[in-house]
Amino acid sequence: MRGNIISYYEMCQREGTSLQRGMNFRLRGRHSVILMSLHPNAPYQDRVEEDGSVLIYEGHDEPRTEHVRNPKAVDQPEFLPSGNRSENGKFHKAAQDHNSGLKHPDIVRVYEKIKKGIWSDNGYFHLVDSWRESDGSREVFKFKLVAVEGVSREDAPEDEHDTEAKRSRIIPTRVKLQVWKRDGGKCVECGATDELHFDHILPYSKGGTSLKVENIQLLCARHNLAKSAKIQ
Ligand SMILES: [Zn+2]
Repeated sequence: MRGNIISYYEMCQREGTSLQRGMNFRLRGRHSVILMSLHPNAPYQDRVEEDGSVLIYEGHDEPRTEHVRNPKAVDQPEFLPSGNRSENGKFHKAAQDHNSGLKHPDIVRVYEKIKKGIWSDNGYFHLVDSWRESDGSREVFKFKLVAVEGVSREDAPEDEHDTEAKRSRIIPTRVKLQVWKRDGGKCVECGATDELHFDHILPYSKGGTSLKVENIQLLCARHNLAKSAKIQ
C-alpha cells in the first residue's frame, strides 16, 4: 500500500530480488522498480511536481571504471558498451513508445529512501514521457512518472492494464520526515515500531490533504486496518 514504511530487506523480499540499482526495468517481466531519494545530497536530481502527483526522475550515470573516472562529467548513457540498452535506454524506449501511441504506459513502483534503512513505498506510477536535457555540463535523462491509484492486476501484461487509472499523489518527503520525528517512529495508537504506514487522518478520498503534517500520522498495520474498516 502507498505510504507503507519498510526496511531495505522487506523491499527486496517483496520485489523478489536484491535491489542493487536505482533503476530496474520490468523486474521479472512485470512492473519496473525505481528507488528515489530527495535528500539534499542525493546523487540524482529527482523532483516531485503538481502537489505530489508527478515525479520527474533523473536517469543514471555511467558506472565508474578505469575509463570513466568521473561519471558526473560524462553524458548519461543510453546504451551499454555491448550495444544493448542501459536502464536509461530501456525506460526511454518504453516512454517514447507510449508517447507515440504504440503502447500503454509502463507501470513503475517507486520506493523512496526516508532515512538510512527506512524506505517508504510511494506506490505505482505510469511512465508517460522521457527526454534528455543539459544539467549545465552534460546530458542527463529525465523520466516523467504520474502517480496512479493502483493497478487492477499487478501482474497484468502491459497491454491489459487500465490506462484510465485515477491520478493519485504522494506525501512530500518533508512531511514524512516531520511526521516520523513527531511520532517518534512509532504507531500513535500502540507504539508499535514495525509495519508502519503514513496514514491520512482525514482520508485523501474525503478531501484530506497530503501536504500538511497535521493530517498525517504513523499507524501500524493493525491500527491502519482497524481505521479503514471503520471508515468503510
Ligand atoms: Zn498500532
